[in-house]
Amino acid sequence: MTTSRAFCPRCGDPIDRESAAAAEGEEGDGPAICEGCYFTDFEFVEAPERIDVSVCAQCGAVHRGRRWVDVDADDYTDVAIEEVSEAVAVHVDVREFAWQVEPEQVDENTIRMHSYFTGVARGRPVEEERSILVRIARQTCTRCGRIAGDYYASTVQIRAEDRTPTSEEVERAREIAERTVAEMEATGDRNAFVTEFTETDDGADIKVSTNKIGKKISNKMIEEFGGSVNDAETLVTEDEDGNEVYRVTFAVRLPPYRPGEVIDLADDEGGPVLVRSARGNLKGVRVTTGERYEAGYEEGDSPDARRLGAIEDAQETTVVTVEDENAVQVLDPETFQAETVARPDYFDPDAETVPVLKSRAGLHVLPDHDPASDEGEDEPYDPYADRQN
Ligand SMILES: [Zn+2]
Ligand SMILES: [Zn+2]
Repeated sequence: MTTSRAFCPRCGDPIDRESAAAAEGEEGDGPAICEGCYFTDFEFVEAPERIDVSVCAQCGAVHRGRRWVDVDADDYTDVAIEEVSEAVAVHVDVREFAWQVEPEQVDENTIRMHSYFTGVARGRPVEEERSILVRIARQTCTRCGRIAGDYYASTVQIRAEDRTPTSEEVERAREIAERTVAEMEATGDRNAFVTEFTETDDGADIKVSTNKIGKKISNKMIEEFGGSVNDAETLVTEDEDGNEVYRVTFAVRLPPYRPGEVIDLADDEGGPVLVRSARGNLKGVRVTTGERYEAGYEEGDSPDARRLGAIEDAQETTVVTVEDENAVQVLDPETFQAETVARPDYFDPDAETVPVLKSRAGLHVLPDHDPASDEGEDEPYDPYADRQN
């Protein structure tokens, strides 16, 4: 058994077999060298003496490589610790690596990082002290520069067909814009921001930092309210590489009738319709019978009709008597005279009062809440429900 003695290929000294096996295990292939030779060449940590770091004075982002990145830092000492961790390289054999740091503020923009590193290599504890100077340059990142310069790449115009968007629709557009940006920021997109939100006489204009955001906002608006979107490109400039840069305007047109409005369709004897949805084809319910109505493909979300009022204009009035299955007598809320009106199937015969709408088309009983919401249809309109999102 004396033939299996190992020798260090570097210095020729015999190697204790157990430690040679341990070293092989750590280093993988290649002949093992003795401990003395190993620690002669061993470099525990590699660290620069000085690190220069650019930090955005507005948002605290740090410039790394060619990009600005958000770091989770409360102050410049935090930034310095982050940068040292990024810059220090530890020998691959080291186990149980740990480091401690005592930051010393040299001046406003300079921090000396007294660093103490410990670990274990080949079963032996190793330690090293280094002093790393971190110099911080306060700058303005691309994003903050753009925000300060009112930069925008895209405009979303919120308009409506034959009417002005309601304040609810405008508010919703603002929420959607803010949420879209927040969602993109959460995925690490630093270039997403709303430059400006302006309410105009005919709706709202939203200036945003990228075309992608503009597209997302307009798509979400028509997903929620129906209507359509058109986009138009305008060449604004060429970038430094000679590429043409376009600014895209997304023109959102909300449908003419919104859920909750009561309309009188042209060339139609079926009675006024309470609009329930304007996404795709206009859908609603007849306020004379309670039957459902859906506009044809050609009419889409804008059938020829006139506006009579909206569910929020309804007045609560007294039910005088139920005449038969098609008629009911209620008090006219203005004259207080009993009137016979059509009895829709959503009318509750036990009700003492009901909401009615008085309009050019006469007096009509409206549902207490939209009957569609009782039928479990997909996303029914309920004017009394608080919006959850
Ligand atoms: Zn050796
Ligand atoms: Zn910034």
